[in-house]
Amino acid sequence: MTKTIFNVKKLRADFPNLGVRIHGKPLVYLDNAATTFKPQAVIDAVTEHYASGTSNVHRGVHTLSQQATNAFERSRDKIRDFIRAEKSCEIIFTRGATEAINLVADSYGGAFLNKGDEIIISEMEHHSNIVPWQILCASKECVLKVAPFNDQGELIYEEFEKLLSPRTKLVAMVYVSNSLGTVNPVKDVIDAAHKKGAVILIDGAQTVSHLAVDVKALDCDFFAFSGHKVFGPSGIGVLYGKEKLLNRMPPYQCGGDMIASVTFEKTAYTVLPYKFEAGTPNVAGVIGLGAAMDYVRSVGLDNIAEYEHELLAYGTKALSSIDGLRLIGTAEHKASILSFVLPNIHPHDLGTLVDEEGIAIRTGHHCTQPVMKHFGVPATSRASLTFYNTKEEIDKLVKAILKAKEIFK
Ligand code: PLP
Repeated sequence: MTKTIFNVKKLRADFPNLGVRIHGKPLVYLDNAATTFKPQAVIDAVTEHYASGTSNVHRGVHTLSQQATNAFERSRDKIRDFIRAEKSCEIIFTRGATEAINLVADSYGGAFLNKGDEIIISEMEHHSNIVPWQILCASKECVLKVAPFNDQGELIYEEFEKLLSPRTKLVAMVYVSNSLGTVNPVKDVIDAAHKKGAVILIDGAQTVSHLAVDVKALDCDFFAFSGHKVFGPSGIGVLYGKEKLLNRMPPYQCGGDMIASVTFEKTAYTVLPYKFEAGTPNVAGVIGLGAAMDYVRSVGLDNIAEYEHELLAYGTKALSSIDGLRLIGTAEHKASILSFVLPNIHPHDLGTLVDEEGIAIRTGHHCTQPVMKHFGVPATSRASLTFYNTKEEIDKLVKAILKAKEIFK
């Protein structure tokens, strides 16, 4: 019997995708850091929009358009509450965390960073929190500095502090690493960045499904996340930004919906958040994300965090018992992500073999090639767990790994 603080079996019934069979076997889905399954409530919200509520938003006086606009803006309010932002106008809809980070690099970076200014990131960033800053540095002649992590995969905070200087204008850091599971001390990082007068962006792509987030208490300037990693639809994400900063920033993309008035001589931009939402948005995605917020709140992030902690401890022990298996990422503060390598079996081979047992894990560099370089491996296998996973599923993974080892002996 799995000891749990809530009824996992009952919750699993909310996710139809968990019921599929792969190669004739019940699916064991351990790839939640790549994307999460959607509860029926989210599927219903999206279906309902397309089945009986389809309309564009913000543009129509007809009833359907007003209903869609209301549902769309209600979702914005739910997201505001979910991450405890002060105002709904601080919630900007994007395609995902990637676009949210690009928006800040392009708009804030383009307007306020100058030659010689410094940007600090960490060695464990996802490529989406590296490349936009590299491009910005190349175009504005800024300097990109990288804070290292230790062999447990923990940010070396003192080294980060040493990188801060009067020229530091921006810090961009991941809250929870997707390839290591490390939970970074972001509150300390934020406070230290602010002491130098720098703004700070937190990449929360892997955070919002694991930990309760309070952007006001954190006092971060920007916070980015993706809907599909928090049980919502894909193609929708969020940039939170402090109102006073967003107001100062120029638009990122231009077109319909982001203007107050247009003549051939001059365009005046509209107010937040619409200034950053040019064109027809992903209406169904936004409505689905609102439903995901409701769903996660109903399960309770504190319950989720506690249960995942239990799963992580169980999984760490179980995987560590496999002869030769090396865990990559053993930070003291971790989310439920288990990356590992095995001698003599390439992760892709392992991924293929466990797939034959119906088990989905991710193999590769996880869009964190510098992390792979640090550990001297080309790739890892990664099991990423969420609240609908069970200890029995971890046991199945261990059994499948042992079987793969036999084949490669
Ligand atoms: N940041 C981290 C830590 C991630 O894990 C990911 C996706 O894996 C991203 C950013 C990018 O998210 P998306 O591809 O949804 O934009």
